[in-house]
Amino acid sequence: MRILLAEDDRIIADGLVRSLRKAGYAVDAVANGADADAALATQQFDLLILDLGLPRLSGIEVLRRLRGRKTTLPVLILTAQDCIEDRVRGLDAGADDYLTKPFALPELEARVRALTRRGTGLPTCIEFGALSYDQADRLVKLDGQSIDLSARELGLLEILLLRAGRLVSKEQLVDHLCGWGEEVSTNAIEVYVHRLRKKLDTGGIKIATVRGLGYCMEKPPVVPGGRDAGS
Ligand code: CA
Repeated sequence: MRILLAEDDRIIADGLVRSLRKAGYAVDAVANGADADAALATQQFDLLILDLGLPRLSGIEVLRRLRGRKTTLPVLILTAQDCIEDRVRGLDAGADDYLTKPFALPELEARVRALTRRGTGLPTCIEFGALSYDQADRLVKLDGQSIDLSARELGLLEILLLRAGRLVSKEQLVDHLCGWGEEVSTNAIEVYVHRLRKKLDTGGIKIATVRGLGYCMEKPPVVPGGRDAGS
């Protein structure tokens, strides 16, 4: 999941970037509306966290331009506590949800989870053979047992799972896992894939290498006598 954060308050921005990265999201941060608009016009994100009081171009204008391009990107706006009008204008301009400052980080993370989940259009819990992934809690289980994944491994699993059965290129993985200014080489991707494979192997979950192209999470085999549609 890739998030664009547009916030000019350096302290708030740094805190958000740190906690969201820790939670396994790739985060790109901009400090003014013009940079946010330029990034949104040219790059793919899964969520926008938008402060409405931004220099160079207001948050409302960023939002209007974004919706003018007919995108359904989920948008969470950040507004000052005493400014109800801002909230209303933000929601009218196409924001999906809002938080008033100051807010607690767990609350922000809960909103982010809810919005990114909505964005994928997929159920909260994805079942894939012996693997289950709860997107709301970012919890992965294999044969009913929780498994520990690093933030990078979780990000990797997420994109492979959301595109299961299809090829995902190394460049797509780098793009999905990293914000700007974060360096992850395609060699590092190989290492993450290797680690993830080892953790999933006991459950029969296979990540195939498509030589020179990327990776593909193979559909798990159908177990005879397993779950059937009639029961
Ligand atoms: Ca501001």
